[in-house]
Amino acid sequence: MVHIERTPLSAIRRAAVYVNSGKKSLSEIVAEQQPDIAMTAAFYDPGRWKPVCPVKADGKVLFADPEYNYWAIAWDTGPDAAEVLVPPGGSCARTNYVANCLLVREGKPQPKLYYGADVSGRRGRVAVGLTDTEWITYGATDGSSGACTPEELRDYMARQGCRFAVMMDGGGKVNVYVKAAGVMMEGRDPSNTLILLWLNHEEEKPVSEKKTVVLDAGHDAGNLANKSPDGTYYEHEFALDMAKRIRAHLERCGVAVTETRPDGGAVSLAQRCAIANGIPGLDLFVSLHSNAAGGSGWSSAKGWSCYLYGSGGEREKAANAILAEVRAAGVTVRSAPIVYDPALYVLKHTTAPAVLIEHGFHTNQEDVANLKDGAWRAAVAAAEARGIVAYLGLAWVPEEPQKAPAEPAEPTEAELAEAWVQSAGVMAGYDDGEMHLDDPVTRRQLMLVAYRLAKLAGLV
Ligand SMILES: [Zn+2]
Repeated sequence: MVHIERTPLSAIRRAAVYVNSGKKSLSEIVAEQQPDIAMTAAFYDPGRWKPVCPVKADGKVLFADPEYNYWAIAWDTGPDAAEVLVPPGGSCARTNYVANCLLVREGKPQPKLYYGADVSGRRGRVAVGLTDTEWITYGATDGSSGACTPEELRDYMARQGCRFAVMMDGGGKVNVYVKAAGVMMEGRDPSNTLILLWLNHEEEKPVSEKKTVVLDAGHDAGNLANKSPDGTYYEHEFALDMAKRIRAHLERCGVAVTETRPDGGAVSLAQRCAIANGIPGLDLFVSLHSNAAGGSGWSSAKGWSCYLYGSGGEREKAANAILAEVRAAGVTVRSAPIVYDPALYVLKHTTAPAVLIEHGFHTNQEDVANLKDGAWRAAVAAAEARGIVAYLGLAWVPEEPQKAPAEPAEPTEAELAEAWVQSAGVMAGYDDGEMHLDDPVTRRQLMLVAYRLAKLAGLV
C-alpha cells in the first residue's frame, strides 16, 4: 500500500507526539486517541525502547543528540508546524519536535543523507513534509510499489513541492493511519513514537454565527484546599459565581457561552480542555481563579493578574482588552499584571486563545474582603465582560434598568388596618363609602372605637 495525504496546515486542530510506552499497535493507538492522521516518528533502540533521534513531546525532551545539530519538524499546537534546527543538547523553544533523516530543506534535495546501513535499500517508508500551506504524510509498506531507497524518497518528496521533508522510521515500523482515506498501514512492529494529527471538521459542524467563549470556573466543588486562611472563602465557589455573572453579560451582548463546570460538580483539567477544543473556531477561553501566596497563613501579595501561555498573539490582545477594563473599574492590579506561564495545564492544552484570570489573592486579607463582596464581584465581572466583548469586536449592550415590579406591592400596615377596622366593625366609612383617612377624630368617635375594641376583647 502507498498513500500520500496533503493536509492544509490551517485544518490541523492539534498535533502531538505520542509516546508509545505501552508498545501498542497502531490500531490500538487509533482506537484510544481517535486521531485523524497518525504516522510513525523517530528511529528507536528496540532493546531500550527509547528514540535515537531528537524528539520532544509536550515540552519534554525524550532524546537529545550530544554532538550534532538536527533539522526537525516542530510545533506548539499543530497548524504552526515548521522546520527548526535543534542544537546539540536538544534545547528548543517549541513544545514538540521530531528529527530523523533530513531529506529536503529550503525546497532542495539534500546532497547527502545520513542514515545507518541497516535502514538502506528499497523498502517501505514513512516521510513527513511541509509546503508553505500543507502538512504532507507519506507512507508505503514493504514490498509495495512505493518501497524505495532513502534517496528515491528524498527525490519523490522534493517533487511533491516540499519545502522541508524528513524520513521517519520504516520497514516493519511503517505505521500510518489516515481516517478520511481509509488508510491503515499497521507495521509488524509498533513504533516507539508517532505523530498524531487531529483536524478541524468545519464542514461537519457548522461554525456558529455567534462569537464563542468558554468560561472555565476553576477547581471543583468540595475543593477545600483553595481557601482563605480563615476558611470564610472558597475559590471554587467564587469562580463559579464569577462565571455566572460574566456569562449573563456576554449573552446579553450576543456571545455564545459554554461553561466547563456549569454546576457545583467536578471536571478534570483534561475534560475542561476537551470541552473547549470541541468547539470549532472557539474565539476565547477564560479560566477564572483567585491566587495564593505564602504558606497556609495570610500574606502581603495582592492584586489582580492575568496568566497567558506565552506572549503575543490573540491571547495577549484579549488579556490587554480585559486588563484595560479592569483598571478602568478601579480594581487593584499587580505591578506586572500579565504573566507568562507555559506550565499551566488549561493554557497549554487549549487550542483557542486562552487567558487565566487570578482575581487577587485569597491569602491576602484585603483581597479576600473584596473577593467575598457581591458588589465587588458584580463590578469586576462587568469589567471583564466589557474587555471580552471589546476583544471580540462586539458592541457592549447595557443592562436593562431595573423596571418597577409588575406584581402589586405588598399592602402596607395602614392598608391592612383600614381593611380590618371596617371588617371587624370597629370603624365604619362615611356614607359615600370612603374612610376620609386624613379627617380628625372627635372624642365621641374615639370613645366609640375604644368601646368596640373592648367588646371584641370581651371586656364589656
Ligand atoms: Zn485556582
